[in-house]
Amino acid sequence: MINIAIDGPSGAGKSTLAKALAKELGYIHTDTGALYRTVGLAVRRAGISPDDKEAVIALLPSVRISLRYEADGQKIYLDGEDVGALIRTNDISSYASKVSAIPEVRAFLLELQRGIARENNVIMDGRDIGTVILPDAEVKFFITVSDEERARRRHRELAARGESLSLEEVRRTMAERDKSDSTREIAPAVPAPDAVFLDNTGDFTETVSRALAIIRSKTERHE
Ligand code: C5P
Repeated sequence: MINIAIDGPSGAGKSTLAKALAKELGYIHTDTGALYRTVGLAVRRAGISPDDKEAVIALLPSVRISLRYEADGQKIYLDGEDVGALIRTNDISSYASKVSAIPEVRAFLLELQRGIARENNVIMDGRDIGTVILPDAEVKFFITVSDEERARRRHRELAARGESLSLEEVRRTMAERDKSDSTREIAPAVPAPDAVFLDNTGDFTETVSRALAIIRSKTERHE
């Protein structure tokens, strides 16, 4: 199986890029942020504070998350309920970021992610895919975009979903999340030593072409 890791900060366009590449290559696309978001949703629904580590850990055995891959991409379920749309709010982003710093939460989601990569050709996006989840991935990308452009994209995305946060508010919560994601003790969101840096600030079609050329050159050597 061929595994491709895409890491980078929030709002860098990892999922959009991963989706486009998966379509082009006929691979599945696994958005691992959705897993942490779904744990965040479960924690919120249980009325637990995401800062209450012990309570979050105690909840994990009852959190049943499953993924399904359909023609239009990944579907995620919590206790059999499709929560794909519910996990995209700004509030759940911060729950996800907080629970993701708890080692037990990461351990809880580890095997699910590795199992998918064992059984499928996959483009997996997240924060620690190249460093922790798939250290042997054939290709690892670390996506960058200017901070200003990331905030603008995220602001547009939230507005399209009916969340009317100011650009300043988006910039602030994004910076907070990036800071805690990249400085946490466990699986910090940092590039793998062998990651290829890909700037996604400019033309998207151009980024996809550059990524495809890199993937083809690296995977052909394996055939
Ligand atoms: O990618 P997305 O913004 O949906 O991720 C939500 C949060 O989940 C991130 O801010 C990060 O804290 C966490 N996450 C993680 N490791 C991953 C993917 C996401 O810690 N592989």
